[in-house]
Amino acid sequence: MTTLFDTMTGSVTQLINPGQDTFSLYVCGPTVQDRPHLGHGRIVATYDLLRRHLRQQGLQVNLVMNVTDVDDKIITRAAQESTSAEAIASRYEAIWWETMDELGVERPDSTPHATDWVQAMIIKIQLMIDAQAAYVIEDGVYLRIASVPHYGLLTKQAFDQLQPGNRVEVNQAKESPLDFALWKRVDVSELGFDSPWGYGRPGWHTECVTMSIELLGPTFDLHGGGMDLIFPHHENELAQAQVLKTPFARHWAHVGFVEMNGEKMSKSIGNTFDLTEAIRLFGGRAVRLAYLRAYYRSPLEMSESTLNDALASLNRIDNFLDRGPYGRPEAGAVAAFTRAIDNDLDTPTAFSVLFDHVREGNTLYDLRQFDSAADKAATVHAMLDWIGLAPTTERLSIPPEISEAVEARQQAKQNRDYATADALRAVIEAAGFAIFDTKDGTELRKDRRLVIDRPSNEASSPEN
Ligand SMILES: [Zn+2]
Repeated sequence: MTTLFDTMTGSVTQLINPGQDTFSLYVCGPTVQDRPHLGHGRIVATYDLLRRHLRQQGLQVNLVMNVTDVDDKIITRAAQESTSAEAIASRYEAIWWETMDELGVERPDSTPHATDWVQAMIIKIQLMIDAQAAYVIEDGVYLRIASVPHYGLLTKQAFDQLQPGNRVEVNQAKESPLDFALWKRVDVSELGFDSPWGYGRPGWHTECVTMSIELLGPTFDLHGGGMDLIFPHHENELAQAQVLKTPFARHWAHVGFVEMNGEKMSKSIGNTFDLTEAIRLFGGRAVRLAYLRAYYRSPLEMSESTLNDALASLNRIDNFLDRGPYGRPEAGAVAAFTRAIDNDLDTPTAFSVLFDHVREGNTLYDLRQFDSAADKAATVHAMLDWIGLAPTTERLSIPPEISEAVEARQQAKQNRDYATADALRAVIEAAGFAIFDTKDGTELRKDRRLVIDRPSNEASSPEN
């Protein structure tokens, strides 16, 4: 059964209840004011791993990831570039999803946008005011921390030791420095919305508590994000949930920081934290591998050498898979791999299992034990597939001359005309296809992709 470190209890806990068939997950998403950085990629890749892992065990996973499309930083950037906040938000949201696609991250089940949920936030704020837990002052509406039954549950610090985070502005009119804005009044010339407390914008903490409850219900399975969100963001979401008498998330999980303290990235990398650029230089699979093979809660150094190492490891795996066809995966080996992931996403152990099989498989090829090697290849492929790292499998159209060459080669082999068969293999390989003979027929791969379309004489005309 899958376990995960729960920030709330401070221990590794059982994630799934017996008999549970769906899993609801809310992960704090991007504020779309800039390109995603390496820290964002790690968070998103980690929850993508968890989602795939749970789904492959038969659970139906419902992942909600919000898009903060109204925020001071978006508005500042729009002013700098003399454009609208909407234009900035839609530009960077498009880049966000394209980059996550490149990272092999599946899109969430829903991606609520803050601007679409303002009315629901206003209703929640009114409920908090009605409960005497929020108050109105000149510049907006604030949550009264003193009215929260248990503040600091996630942060694990006494109330009087908590300091306002850097997202909290100093405001002398507040009853307590920790009180945070649910609604901020803004000038009518700025992007904003009408409310009972004047024209303004909702607070970020109110956005997430509202959209998670509205989309997943008053209780859901897991609330996730990066460790930097524990305080104040998640603590303040939880504070509002308490005031609203909502049970809220059953578990909380947080992904460690990405650090760049050591070796500096070379000039070629440009903006050092830019995920889109790292993917352009190293490829999405190598960046994904760099993230996933580290334990998700530990700090991760993402230097140029980290990415070079990840690319070299990926090449080692792919070169092994390129040595022959896939046989049958060894169920016990795949189970050892997934069992490690089950244990608080222990991917370092899972990857050591995977690399053991790459090493053993290469030895089997060297010993010309091709059937056993093919089974190792299938085993490694199944492991990669589990975590979203398998070489892409897609239907490629096969040019008619290649289909004909494959057919003619089969015929030549049947006639024991090995000279012709070898000449035809050379023709097929010259066109960029790798060809393998398996028990089930001929297997073609191109650019490390398994070609699913079996060659046939009725092959459709090549594209363009
Ligand atoms: Zn959030």
